[in-house]
Amino acid sequence: MKTILTGLRPTGNLHLGHYFGACQNYLKYQGKYDFYLEVADVQALTDNFNNPEKVRKNVREITIDLLSIGLDPEKVNFFIQSKIPEIAELTVYYSNLVTVARLQRNPTVKTEMSQKKELFGNNGESITYGFLGYPVSQAADITCFDGKLIPVGEDQLPLLEQCREIVRKFNSIYGETLNEPEPILSETKRIKGLDGNDKMGKSLGNAIFLVDDDEKIKEKVMGAITDPSKIKKDDPANPDICMVYYYHKLVSPEEDVKKVCSECKKGARGCVACKKELIKNMNEFLNPIRDKRKFYEENTKVVDEILNKGTEKAREKAKEQMKKIKHSMMIDY
Ligand code: SF4
Repeated sequence: MKTILTGLRPTGNLHLGHYFGACQNYLKYQGKYDFYLEVADVQALTDNFNNPEKVRKNVREITIDLLSIGLDPEKVNFFIQSKIPEIAELTVYYSNLVTVARLQRNPTVKTEMSQKKELFGNNGESITYGFLGYPVSQAADITCFDGKLIPVGEDQLPLLEQCREIVRKFNSIYGETLNEPEPILSETKRIKGLDGNDKMGKSLGNAIFLVDDDEKIKEKVMGAITDPSKIKKDDPANPDICMVYYYHKLVSPEEDVKKVCSECKKGARGCVACKKELIKNMNEFLNPIRDKRKFYEENTKVVDEILNKGTEKAREKAKEQMKKIKHSMMIDY
């Protein structure tokens, strides 16, 4: 079985953007690959170093989210990044193989830096060594487990390319030791927010979380953006610019979606009724996830055991890989 590795930063609960954008693919991969899923607390600290409580709390939270969507701990190896010291050690070695200028040019780093102006300054003048270097740490994450396949969205390809460059440089200096990882491009799209923004995000305040209860779903769906030209109940409208229709397409049965579309275009349905139908379907979609979450929330020991067991297995694999790497680097004293 090939090794597949992916990671999630524990900075908040998962929302529909994560679910349809990445997690659905994880469900397809489980059982087909030797699947390592990293809870990337060290990486989360690169831009949350001043808020360790948030990261700590979300390590278990995000694991519960992932288990609740149906990931099976017998098929997916969950581990905590900070409990694998080999990753930190490898990051130090790799930091010699990449220039500061190359990291500054990395498009993903540049985009993220511009989104975090309050932390890193308007022109990145206050960027930290840790944040700038997180692609190096990611290269360590991947190669520490000899990750062959890495699920990424298009926007993360530059990070993987950086990792491949480090691997090539390492092999050219220390001899053929590391395998170059390959991307698996996820087919799924970026999920729009309730406000019509192209991206759903916690910080954008436009997300539906897997953990949201009935009341929150009702409040959020009732506030979703619809076609602004529809004033009266029987005005015809354009469902393609309505977020309610957009979410119907994600969670409602196909027949319902067709009905929403044609009735909306004919002016045969009102927005309130349409939203109520979406609330019902959204709750039906979320209910099995909520049931599983309830189990894990009441049995947090089970979650901790899953993390501990997965981390132990990951540590064994990382130790083996480090032996090989240190031998090539002539530091296997
Ligand atoms: Fe959107 Fe439904 Fe209103 Fe049409 S009827 S604009 S799909 S909420």
